[in-house]
Amino acid sequence: MKISRRNFFILASTISASFLFGNKVEAVEGKYATLVDLTKCDGCKGESVPLCVKACRDYNANRFPNPEKPILPYWPRKTYEDWSDKRDKIDTLTPYNWIFVQKVNIQGKEIFIPRRCMHCDNPPCVRECPFGALTKQPEGNSVINDKICFGGAKCRDVCPWHIPQRQAGVGIYLQILPKYAGGGVMYKCDLCKDKIRKGEEPACVTACRSRSGKEGVFTFGIRDEIYALAYKKVREEGLFIYGDKQNGGTSTLYLSAVSFELISKALQDKKERFLMPVHVENKIISKFNPIGKIVLASGAISMIGATLAAFLSKKEKKEACEDEKD
Ligand code: SF4
Ligand code: SF4
Ligand code: SF4
Repeated sequence: MKISRRNFFILASTISASFLFGNKVEAVEGKYATLVDLTKCDGCKGESVPLCVKACRDYNANRFPNPEKPILPYWPRKTYEDWSDKRDKIDTLTPYNWIFVQKVNIQGKEIFIPRRCMHCDNPPCVRECPFGALTKQPEGNSVINDKICFGGAKCRDVCPWHIPQRQAGVGIYLQILPKYAGGGVMYKCDLCKDKIRKGEEPACVTACRSRSGKEGVFTFGIRDEIYALAYKKVREEGLFIYGDKQNGGTSTLYLSAVSFELISKALQDKKERFLMPVHVENKIISKFNPIGKIVLASGAISMIGATLAAFLSKKEKKEACEDEKD
């Protein structure tokens, strides 16, 4: 990815503003929500790849990263995160796999759990990204801008479910501070942002319906209606709910015939990488701290100034060489 002078200035302003003012902190209930009824999911038994997973991979394939190799480690780490040789891995979240299906066995019963970003109402990933690379959209989805993301993984650190995944060797850090900042780009489900903006449903939802039917695993729609439907099923069918309270509320509601305490424990016992804690507080509140912000912003502006000077000088030298050749 080449960066133009104009884009560099846009990036510098975004980063400075993000450091100085922070990102939006109020909870926003987006337009849409997804209901995931675990009583209906059989993990796509008989399929080589669950249909929801396949649909996501197919739909987003042209957005997957293509790293420049060799990938170099960056200070102070001695390693980097490279999933590019494991693109076919479907049993976990990676930069190439934005949804996967977990399996637990509880009281002799198999339970399959499709996992992707919860699209929180007040997402810590959006609030805490130092570069302002994540935004909460009016539709309710949180979206990573891969042109601005430095891959510092702050979003993953503050996400209660550690959803975003990093690929090294791609992104803007290669052109700005390849050895000292970031280390790639973060990737995750964005709720099929372009589809839902056009009023269509996400690819995984459509694909699953072809197997589990209209009243199947996923129901995607207007948030208030999805919440009402979920609570109706809780009342009338005695199901348990997850996602309405966790992290202050999300756009993804799970229903299960088995309590989420038991599911959470089963995932813990299996030492799964992605857990479902029942008590999830939305505890990172970005309070405005003028002194801290000014110190951070000064640091950021100095860093941006230094890199901008280096960038322009390199560009001018290149132009001068080209002029000499002419
Ligand atoms: S496509 Fe539907 S039934 Fe198949 S694993 Fe995904 S959610 Fe479950
Ligand atoms: S689940 Fe994690 S990555 Fe997704 S919106 Fe919430 S905090 Fe962000
Ligand atoms: S909503 Fe779209 S991006 Fe997210 S998991 Fe489903 S298909 Fe993938």
